[in-house]
Amino acid sequence: MWAELIEAHQLEIEVNPPEESPIQGNRIVELYVLQWAVGLQYNHSKMCTHGKLNVAEELNRGKGLATTIVFGCNMCENK
Ligand SMILES: [Zn+2]
Repeated sequence: MWAELIEAHQLEIEVNPPEESPIQGNRIVELYVLQWAVGLQYNHSKMCTHGKLNVAEELNRGKGLATTIVFGCNMCENK
């Protein structure tokens, strides 16, 4: 009886299209930035266990060689 009810239920499938990164192209960074970014994710994981930091936005783009990249969490919306 339950198996018939389960089989009669239509599954809903959600597909989230991949979000386009706010950063396009290439950047030149010092290698310590990689270690800094790993530490940033590590420290954030202490307070937000399932959160993953992604690039949220790039500030000051096109205003010289220096730019600012803002990371945001996909779970708690912290930046
Ligand atoms: Zn978070």
